[in-house]
Amino acid sequence: EAYAEMRRIADLTDRFPLAGSAGHAARDVCRINDMAGIGPVRVDPDVITMLELSRKHNARTRGAFDVTIGPVMDLWGFGGKHPHVPGDEELKSSLAMVGDAHMHLNRKDRTVYLDKPGMRLDLGAVAKGYATEKAIQVLKRNGIEKAIIDAGGTIRVIGTHARGVPWRIGIKKPGSTEDILAVLSLQDSAAATSAGYYRYFDSGRRRFHHILNPGTGYPAMENESVTVVAGDAGLADVLSTALFVLKPEEALEIVNKLTGVEAVLV
Ligand code: AMP
Ligand code: MG
Repeated sequence: EAYAEMRRIADLTDRFPLAGSAGHAARDVCRINDMAGIGPVRVDPDVITMLELSRKHNARTRGAFDVTIGPVMDLWGFGGKHPHVPGDEELKSSLAMVGDAHMHLNRKDRTVYLDKPGMRLDLGAVAKGYATEKAIQVLKRNGIEKAIIDAGGTIRVIGTHARGVPWRIGIKKPGSTEDILAVLSLQDSAAATSAGYYRYFDSGRRRFHHILNPGTGYPAMENESVTVVAGDAGLADVLSTALFVLKPEEALEIVNKLTGVEAVLV
């Protein structure tokens, strides 16, 4: 049941099934993107919740976190077969299609509308944590008292590991394959890491990774990795990506204002 719930959220948000395929037509995020500049699309309430969470962090980071980053992500081609450094002109025209203000959410009608043609949502920073949290809720409803879900970069635990001993989670040292930078003790909480080492390509003598600064369209270079601990995996996932884009002092300012949230910045 927990796996099915994760699958359901993944299916709502995955935006890469082939256009025209049955999978494509069934996915809310694909349908929203296809209808950009045309009209609103009715979606699952979970999609509205994820977009509201995203919008909150767009405001909190003064635009550094933005799920309308899709056109720029596509230009770089991270995760595809031929990632490459885009040209200035194409980068400029893709950036013109990015902006939270052009995303219209209607919770009552459960609709989403992107008002510029070519706009595209990318929930890559949000969906995994949200799905993990939903799966944990399924486990809890079924009476599970101790559990760990490792979704890759996002971890959520319930209860303790054994006999009152918290779950121990290692934070990877960026730039090294095996070294651990620190160990977190988690109990009924989540930890999410955003880092440049998850998805990248090398071009010339430079390395380019998948978390972009929407101001420039280039990879955000302020941090090597950001780990956020919070009670909720959805929040931890959104915040880790959001803080990764900010300068460390701006990131800490946000963390220090939030209760129950802690961060490790590298
Ligand atoms: P995460 O691994 O959770 O940090 O998410 C990284 C993913 O977030 C990328 O692969 C993109 O799909 C998406 N993304 C990249 N840059 C941004 C940004 N500035 N704001 C929101 N999402 C982003
Ligand atoms: Mg994230």
